Amino acid sequence: MPKVKKIPQRMCVGCREMVPKKQLLRLVRTTDNAIEIDLTGKKAGRGAYICLEKECLDKARKGKKLERAFQAPISPSVYSEIEDSIKKLMEQKSTQSQ
Ligand SMILES: [Zn+2]
Repeated sequence: MPKVKKIPQRMCVGCREMVPKKQLLRLVRTTDNAIEIDLTGKKAGRGAYICLEKECLDKARKGKKLERAFQAPISPSVYSEIEDSIKKLMEQKSTQSQ
């Protein structure tokens, strides 16, 4: 019997549900207070997670949830970058499952 590994879960800033890390996009606040999308999950800094769902991004945007998570202002360009990344990752996912 293979050991069942506990899947690490993180809270999405949009829907505030616990979701397996792999299904989330990691965002990180770097030491110079810039917010970056962390596709590797290995960047240093304060992290926040969001589902690969436009709905969650909209919730986060409307509720200024990333601002709260990072205690830093988030420029609209960061949000559109996140939106692009989510779209790309969703596309990747759908091509992989075919
Ligand atoms: Zn979510």
